[in-house]
Formats: sequence, structure tokens, C-alpha cells
Amino acid sequence: FDIREEGYQNIEREADNKLRPLKFDDFKGQDSIVENLKIFVQAASMREEALDHVLLHGPPGLGKTTLSNIIANELGVGFKLTSGPVLDKPGDLAGILTNLEPNDVLFIDEIHRLSPVVEEYLYSAMEDYRIDIVIDKGPGARSIQIELNPFTLVGATTRSGLLTSPLRARFGINCHLEYYDNTVLAGIVNRSSGILDTSISKEACLEISGRSRGTPRIANALLRRVRDFAQVKGNGSIDIEISRYSLEALNIDQHGLDEMDHKILCTLIDKFHGGPVGVGTIATAIGEDSGTIEEVYEPFLIKEGFIKRTPRGRMATALAYSHLGKDSFNQEQY
Ligand code: ADP
Repeated sequence: FDIREEGYQNIEREADNKLRPLKFDDFKGQDSIVENLKIFVQAASMREEALDHVLLHGPPGLGKTTLSNIIANELGVGFKLTSGPVLDKPGDLAGILTNLEPNDVLFIDEIHRLSPVVEEYLYSAMEDYRIDIVIDKGPGARSIQIELNPFTLVGATTRSGLLTSPLRARFGINCHLEYYDNTVLAGIVNRSSGILDTSISKEACLEISGRSRGTPRIANALLRRVRDFAQVKGNGSIDIEISRYSLEALNIDQHGLDEMDHKILCTLIDKFHGGPVGVGTIATAIGEDSGTIEEVYEPFLIKEGFIKRTPRGRMATALAYSHLGKDSFNQEQY
């Protein structure tokens, strides 16, 4: 049961869609981002113009796709979804762009994975709503310019550090999504159980959200699993007992840490005596890319107080030692 696996993504995407809020008012948390977006959307609507291009960055499952959908709904325009790795050739992008209606929203997920040629095409499309297409080959080759309808590009990325600066500079609105705190996440669990027509207690919402790594996608996935247990082992409604029972049975960490989080902490403690050690060294030790550790995994571990960033590198905290049942934590390190 690994919530971050590719397979999980495919199987559960359908379920994700069912629970996706469609209006700003149903989107919980990320308050300042939502407040600002509401203003920009309203202003664009009043001027009957396309909203400026929006870049959403932050770890997976925090609501980037959801927000871009909401932006299109609130603007009352069409929504097209694609992703960086899917847009292989400039022709793929041209096909999508030329089919956009005025002021539509085009969502490109994993925009840091666009190929450089496709990215190049995007520049003039974003800036002047225009693309140059080369037709024919050899001596007869010529380039024709195609005017596009004004549109809003919403780009999403987990790795904003990988965006080129020309691309980044073309987004007028730039938002960084943060992990959700427990009470907001509990509210999301409560709303989702309503949609799933399942009654749930307040304590159960908090129990599930507390183990969801600050991430709505994980919270919703755990809710669905707990609901299964409640249906088969209980009376269908979700209380604190059935929640604890199910989450134990699923082997979900008390703090929501997943396998990669464990790997990072264990490496830090076992191989490097709790640090300080550079993030590049940790990355090499566990065979993961250091940027991914820094942008996708580490922020949660730092937020929850398992890792400290120091000028000399990362250090495991007392909480990390006690949580993993390691007893050699040396307080004098601080
Ligand atoms: P991302 O695109 O950042 O990976 P998604 O937008 O696909 O994340 O969100 C994953 C799931 O979490 C969606 O099904 C959505 O229902 C839920 N979700 C995300 N953010 C919120 C939120 N703020 N309020 C309610 N549900 C949310």
C-alpha cells in the first residue's frame, strides 16, 4: 500500500475527481493563495480578458490540478488538461493551442518535464498568443504564423527549481502551495465523507488527517480505505476506534511518514550519526535525486520537526530519534 506509486495514481485518479472541489469556496486552506486568485479571476472576468498565466508549485497531491480546474470554472471558460511528458513534439502543443476557445485555461502538469523544443514554442504562445509552424521540408520549407485565441496557461510543478528562467518569467502569477495543517485537512476529510455518503466523527477526521502527511490526496485515499473497514468490520459509520484499527492494519505511520521519509531519516541517523550532512550526500546514499529530496520530501520532514536545516547541513532531531525508536540521540549536538 504505497500511496505515491504510479499505479496508485492511475487507479485512484477517478476517485480523486469525484472528491475535487469545483469552486473556490469549497477549496479549503491555502488561504492567501485563494484570496489573491479570487481577485485576479474577478478582475480578468470584469475586463473580459484572459487571466495572466499562473504557475502553481508544491509537492504532489496538494491541489494544483484542483485549483486550475476551479480557476476555469470561476472564469466560466473551458479547461484542457495535458502534461509535460505527454507533449512530445511541437505539433502536439500546436494542436492543443489552436483548439482553445477565447480565454480558455490550458493546464500543463509537470511543466518542468517539457522538452526544450516544445518549451520554445510555448514562449511566443504565452507572450503574444501566436505560434510559428514550419511546413514542408528541405528547400520548400517555410514558416507560417498562426494567431491563437487569448488563453491562460496554468503550469504545475513539484520541482520549480528545474524550470528555466525564460519560462518562469512568463508567468504573471506565481503560487507556492504548502502542506495543510491538521485541522484544515480534517475539514477536507469531513467534506469528502459527506460526498461519499458516510458518517464520520470529528475525532476520526482528525485521526485520519493526522496520518496524511499534510496532503489532501493522501487524506482522501486513507478515508476511502477506512470506509471499507467500517463497512465490513463495523456498522458503516466511521468512528475513532475503526479509524485506529484500519490505519494500524494498513501500517500507516502515526505521523504519516512514508517509506521515503523513513529512508531519509534512517540514512541520516544510521549512516551519518544524525548529521550534519549535506542533502547531496543523503541523496547519493539513498539513490534519489537531491532536488527531489529538497523540494518534495524534505519540506514535510522539516515542517513536522524531524529534520533541522543548519548551515553545515541537515540534522535529525530528537523527535526523529524517538519516532524511529533510535536511542543514541546526543542532546549535546545542539
Ligand atoms: P496535485 O495536482 O497538486 O497533485 P490534486 O489537485 O490532484 O493535487 O488534488 C488531489 C486530491 O486532493 C483531489 O482529489 C482533491 O479532491 C483533493 N484536494 C486537494 N486540495 C484540496 C482542498 N484544498 N480542498 C479539498 N480537497 C482538496
